[in-house]
Amino acid sequence: MSVPHAPENVNIVENIESLKTRVAKAASGVGRDPLDILLVAVSKMHSGDAIRASLDAGQRVFGESRVQEAMDKWPPIKAEYPDVRLHLIGPLQTNKVREAVALFDVIQTVDRPKLANKLSEEMRKQNRMLPCFIQINTGEEDQKAGILPAESDSFISNCRDKEGLRVEGLMCIPPQYEEPSLHFAFLREIAARNSIDNLSMGMSTDFEIAIAMGATQIRLGTAIFGSR
Ligand SMILES: *Cc1c(COP(=O)(O)O)cnc(C)c1O
Repeated sequence: MSVPHAPENVNIVENIESLKTRVAKAASGVGRDPLDILLVAVSKMHSGDAIRASLDAGQRVFGESRVQEAMDKWPPIKAEYPDVRLHLIGPLQTNKVREAVALFDVIQTVDRPKLANKLSEEMRKQNRMLPCFIQINTGEEDQKAGILPAESDSFISNCRDKEGLRVEGLMCIPPQYEEPSLHFAFLREIAARNSIDNLSMGMSTDFEIAIAMGATQIRLGTAIFGSR
């Protein structure tokens, strides 16, 4: 522990290894293949050094919340690691759509008609038809982004049929003080009736529950990189 910088790097590598074990255990506990669960490393507010430590551990899929922060950190790393896949997991302003489509590989936070329209237009312009997830505000929280559950079916149809977006999954962030499993089950139900295969749900504190409820992508920040 006396070597500068080493402890942080060692921990990130160890954290990823132990998380893989926990994911495998949670998956096999419910008869699922661990390979069906994608670990998205949420690197928001963490340095390029921390990201590089996780790259050394073999991690290649990352999530960032803010377009500007991602533009500051990722272009050199992406140039060096062409197999990196960057997911946008935070709210997207329409005036940042052009930059987001150019930098990210998956947009997880499609949450309103105006944004869907702008994304569609920009993806065509850049000829980058990125996989999209629809964010559902399962807890109907005022302060949280996402389409309301009652509007989700029509919004999903709109994104697919009118905007031509590649809708590949649904995403949710359950209310902080509620039982997450109810929200995960709700998200799975909305996905099933719309024939959507991917569920992005589960964070550092509840990913094992999310895996039991059918998550195909879990978004882990603190458990990998430590506190922000
Ligand atoms: C920050 C964030 C995460 C990661 O949260 P942790 O609790 O640090 O694992 C996951 N999803 C979203 C949308 C986030 O903003």
